Amino acid sequence: MENNINTRRVFLNNIKNFFLYSFLSQFFFVKNLKAKNVKPKVVVVGSGFGGGTCIKYLSKYSKILDLQVIDKYTQIQTCPFSNLVIGNVMDYKDITFDINKNLEAKFHTGQIKYINPEKKQIYFSDDLSMNYDFLILSPGIGFKKNQIDGYSIEDESFVPHCWTGNKKILEFKKRLNSLDDGCSLVISAPEYPYRCPPAPYERASMIANYLMKKKKQFKIFILDSKNSFTKKEIFFNEWKKKYNDSIEWISKKDGGKIINVNDGVVTTEGGLKFSSDFLHIIPNQQASEIFHNSGLTSDDWCSINPINFEVTGSKDIYALGDSIDAGDMPKSSFSANSQAKMLSMNLVNKILEKDYVEPVFLNTCYSFSSNDRAFSITSWYRLNSQKNRIVSLGSKESNVDASDLDRLRESKEAHDWYENITQMIYS
Ligand SMILES: Cc1cc2nc3c(=O)[nH]c(=O)nc-3n(C[C@H](O)[C@H](O)[C@H](O)COP(=O)(O)OP(=O)(O)OC[C@H]3O[C@@H](n4cnc5c(N)ncnc54)[C@H](O)[C@@H]3O)c2cc1C
Repeated sequence: MENNINTRRVFLNNIKNFFLYSFLSQFFFVKNLKAKNVKPKVVVVGSGFGGGTCIKYLSKYSKILDLQVIDKYTQIQTCPFSNLVIGNVMDYKDITFDINKNLEAKFHTGQIKYINPEKKQIYFSDDLSMNYDFLILSPGIGFKKNQIDGYSIEDESFVPHCWTGNKKILEFKKRLNSLDDGCSLVISAPEYPYRCPPAPYERASMIANYLMKKKKQFKIFILDSKNSFTKKEIFFNEWKKKYNDSIEWISKKDGGKIINVNDGVVTTEGGLKFSSDFLHIIPNQQASEIFHNSGLTSDDWCSINPINFEVTGSKDIYALGDSIDAGDMPKSSFSANSQAKMLSMNLVNKILEKDYVEPVFLNTCYSFSSNDRAFSITSWYRLNSQKNRIVSLGSKESNVDASDLDRLRESKEAHDWYENITQMIYS
């Protein structure tokens, strides 16, 4: 009797082990198959600073993933250093790069209209579509409409805003070139948050640099929708030193926010009126249209899990760069590049079923006040204790009264940074 029971127990155990073994071997077989043969399709949208960095990093993992890239352009014109093109310090060709197609990835040219996260499908403006296993979105910035009465981004009679990378910068330069001696210019600076916080003030400096070189008298009014801006004291010092106070900043509280444009005359919230020869409106900003068209935003921006950059509530969609709410990080190429490295590393970790690395980030924003004078702010970031927000650990700004040599040194550092980042992405 005792023997029978033992035999039965052994038999049942054997059956249990057999099924357990079959289940486990099947599980590992599928897992192996997945790792070795069936590569997940990773689609990157955007070959700019965020997307371009992801592509460069992920193309090294072609053994475990099938990388596909979509951009509406075949050539990228960068926004960084575009102000130097306006200032005639650099040529348009110096900020224009072919997308590097010699990488282990498949490249597609097309404009995306929207994403369907449930179907895992990407829809193009010509009604074609593409599927994905993992989607990375870095399509840059979008613009808010109907913010100023009488102004529309699409109205080509206005000076182009040149806040995205395209050839309109050539039209901008043409208009600048046609200004007469004694001209007056108005630049409207947008509300926070927007792409590259110091760029409106760098643009004013570079316009001044250009007009001064052409020996023209001018006055630039910066009408601001904010009460302060980054590196303000340094910009003020530089404007005084280089442009003899030809640049005047009017804050929101002093009535600087533009509310209406009529027949070339702008009216501000404070009732001030300016008539100018060159009206340059930098529009208020939001996440790129793709996010809004696809229901991937809760407000103006796309919210993400900062550990892996997965879009909140949308499995297998990752976002980075200017369109996301990145906590304390500003919207810059440097930030997008830093985020891209972390996102890519943790996506590879996910595919290899490894643990996520807890991210840390860095950003440096250089600004030029003239050809050979630059200054910067550098900040470090990590996640807060709840791991749901990127927070600043501190920052360091150039000295307000730095010597000419220091400004020159920083301008060389800025050029080196630009060369390094564009080489890393596009060569
Ligand atoms: C005047 C100016 C000066 C700046 N200077 C600096 C600087 O000195 N340093 C710095 O760090 N940052 C600077 N920036 C900010 C910087 O340009 C952005 O923060 C950075 O480009 C963000 O990277 P991204 O990948 O989010 O977007 P982008 O680099 O803009 O890349 C977006 C890509 O997506 C593509 N795309 C967009 N929509 C679609 C679509 N529907 N379908 C297909 N493809 C699409 C675009 O063609 C583009 O290639 C500056 C910005 C401006 C405006």
